[in-house]
Amino acid sequence: MNPIYLDYAATTPMAPEVLETMLPYFTEYYGNPSSLHGYGQVAKDGIERARQTIAAFIHAKENEIVFTGSGTESDNTVIKGVAHALAAKGNHIITSAIEHHAIHESLHFLEKQGLQVTYLPVDEYGLVDPDAVKKAITDKTILVSIMHANNEIGTIEPIAAIGAVAHEKGVLFHTDAVQTFGHIPIDVDALNIDLLSASAHKLYGPKGVGLLYIRKGTRITPLLHGGDQEKHRRASTQNVAGIVGFGRAVELAASEMESEAARQSALRDRLIAGLLAAIPDSRLNGHPEKRLPNNVNISIAYIEGEAMLLNLDMEGIAASTGSACTSSSLEPSHCLIAIGLPHELAHGSLRFTLGRGTTETEIDTVVAVLPGIVGKLRAMSPLYKKVAL
Ligand code: PLP
Repeated sequence: MNPIYLDYAATTPMAPEVLETMLPYFTEYYGNPSSLHGYGQVAKDGIERARQTIAAFIHAKENEIVFTGSGTESDNTVIKGVAHALAAKGNHIITSAIEHHAIHESLHFLEKQGLQVTYLPVDEYGLVDPDAVKKAITDKTILVSIMHANNEIGTIEPIAAIGAVAHEKGVLFHTDAVQTFGHIPIDVDALNIDLLSASAHKLYGPKGVGLLYIRKGTRITPLLHGGDQEKHRRASTQNVAGIVGFGRAVELAASEMESEAARQSALRDRLIAGLLAAIPDSRLNGHPEKRLPNNVNISIAYIEGEAMLLNLDMEGIAASTGSACTSSSLEPSHCLIAIGLPHELAHGSLRFTLGRGTTETEIDTVVAVLPGIVGKLRAMSPLYKKVAL
């Protein structure tokens, strides 16, 4: 059987067009973009073209895009950079219980130094209530950070409303758009965004390149100090090939985002319906409609996600339990706990994320294979035997 990759939220294969665009920047156009000679200027032009493409894609201005080394770096920069720059105004940040670890761990780091953080709960679908954001804002609040869509359960948050509430009170709004960038439309004005994080490897671009959108006039301290690259907002010689690849990946995304979203949503719904019908005591996690076109997250009672994952892997099917970053830990996913799942069900969860390469045949193979794995594991599960009696 051909291997089936259904872990596109963890990372995507690089598009051949992206690789092709990047290659000359390793061997021919290798100049340092800060150098004044021709070599440097060619590299600089490559970066600036990518910046133009990307800015236009989210309705931003070119000088509002800062290239970073990853989504994680962008998230760290926002939390630490805003906390530092606005320390005189206040020391309170509002976020949700289901953010990526890059946000939560940056906040935990600053909490040890006196930052106050409100972790808003989410409802059973993983939605943050804009009214709850409004109520949580105090005169010490400097930032609201709520992700555009959740990486585990795929729920798309009402960020336009949340951004509006933050702005009403004069508070900055950041969104982690790592899972949505290139997959669903983003307009930083319409969505009331001041700061946004994204990462190239989630949209068929290279790993190790991210971006931070910073609305003009937003006060933020850089994370990295050194040279004057990226207009002093992120020191380091730029990853020229990576940035050029990011730009090309965005061009490709722009041309097919709409059609791919429709195609993947149909496959997603086929997978959800097929699995729920074939596996008793299973449930969908996340919102049934307000969800990423490529995300399926289900909980299957009485068995462990890891056991299912390994059995799927033996069948050549790659999926994930929770997020890739937590799947090596035995702690249940903080997102699944936040939507109210008991620990046993959270442990029995699987995430399938679809992509450009996903076909109907692959989806049907998963629907054919997983129920057998579940049956086999349940037959060995003491928990299942107890209920089955
Ligand atoms: N934020 C979210 C929502 C993510 O899903 C991820 C990666 O899984 C990140 C941030 C981190 O991005 P990167 O892998 O570029 O560090």
